[in-house]
Amino acid sequence: MKKHNYSAGPCILPQEVFEKSAQAILDFNNSGLSILEISHRSKDFVAVMDEARALVLELLNLEGKGYEVLFLGGGASLEFLMVPYNLMKVDGKAAYLDTGTWASGAIKEAKHFGETVVVASSKSENYNHIPKGYTIPADADYFHCTSNNTIFGTQMKSFPEVNVPLVCDMSSDIFSRVLDFSKFDLIYAGAQKNMGPAGATLVVVKTEILGKTGRTIPSILDYKQHVDKESMYNTPPVFPVYASLLTLQWLKKIGGIAAIEKINEAKANLLYTEIDRNPLFKGAAVKEDRSNMNVTFLLNDDAHQEKFDAMWKAAGISGLPGHRSVGGYRASMYNALPLESVQVLVDVMQELEKNI
Ligand SMILES: *Cc1c(COP(=O)(O)O)cnc(C)c1O
Repeated sequence: MKKHNYSAGPCILPQEVFEKSAQAILDFNNSGLSILEISHRSKDFVAVMDEARALVLELLNLEGKGYEVLFLGGGASLEFLMVPYNLMKVDGKAAYLDTGTWASGAIKEAKHFGETVVVASSKSENYNHIPKGYTIPADADYFHCTSNNTIFGTQMKSFPEVNVPLVCDMSSDIFSRVLDFSKFDLIYAGAQKNMGPAGATLVVVKTEILGKTGRTIPSILDYKQHVDKESMYNTPPVFPVYASLLTLQWLKKIGGIAAIEKINEAKANLLYTEIDRNPLFKGAAVKEDRSNMNVTFLLNDDAHQEKFDAMWKAAGISGLPGHRSVGGYRASMYNALPLESVQVLVDVMQELEKNI
C-alpha cells in the first residue's frame, strides 16, 4: 500500500509522475528506446528541456522579463559557491541572512570569495524564527536569503525591499506559494524537495546581473556559459529533468501555483490547528514564521514517544521523525502530499490523546 510520505527530501511526487517516468524508462515517446539511453542532443530530449525551461517561467510568471532557466547538477549545495563565484565582485562583498543550516552552508562557501556580511542570525535560538529589522549594506553585490528552512520549519513570509540583486535559495518551497518572483534576481532550488527526483538543480537567473564580477570563472561554474548553451553546456541530468517536467505539467494542469497554494494552506492549517489544540504536542517554530512546507513539532512528554511512533507507523505514515538538530517530528508537506494524508496524521494525534 502507498504510504503517507512525509519525507523531507527526496520527497513525494504526484503518482502520475511516477507512472509516466516509469513508462519513459521502458519506452520513451514510443521511440523503442528508454529515456535513459538516448542522446541529450536528440530531438525528443531537446524538446523536454525546452518545455521544462519554458514551463518554469510560465508558472513563476516570469516570461519576457529577462530571465533564463537552467537545470544543473551538483545540488543546491553547488549553488552555495556558484552564486558568489558569479555575483561577488573581486574585492566586493555579499550580504547573507542566516536562518538555518542551509543558509549557514551558503555563508561558509561565500567566505571563500570575499567579504561576507551576515546581516542577522537566529542561530542563538536554534533558528526557531526568521530575524527581522536588519539592514543590508547598500554596497553589497547581492543579498542572499533562504525562503524556507527545511530543517527548522520556518518560512519567510515577506522579503526585504533591496536595492541590490536579491538571491534566494527556494529549495524547499519553490512552486508552493504565490510570490512576486520578479523581485528576485536569482532563484535556485534542488529539485528533490518539491519538483522532481534528486540530481537536478533549478536556477532561474535574470541575465543582466551576470558577467560583472571581474573574475575568471571556470566554464562549468559559469552561469553565462550555461545560459549561452541553453542549459546543455554539458550532459544535463536527463532523467531528473524529465521527471521535473512531468511534475510541472501536473502543477499547471491542477491550476498552477495559486491552486496549490490554497491546498498547501489547508494542509498547514489542519496540522497546526491540531498541534496548538492537542495538549500532548507543541510546535517548534515561532508561530508567525511557521513553514507551510515543513512542520516541526514535539511531544510535551517524551514518555509518549514509543506509543505515538507505533501508532503513526501503523497508520501507514512514513518519514515523520524530526531532524536531529530539532528533535521531535517534522511533517514535510510538499505539493504532492494530499490533504487526506494530513488528516491521517491528525487522526493519529487525536487517537493518542484519547489513549493517554
Ligand atoms: C536540501 C536543501 C539544500 C541542499 O540541497 P542539495 O541538493 O542536497 O545540495 C539547500 N538548501 C535548502 C533550503 C534545502 O532544503
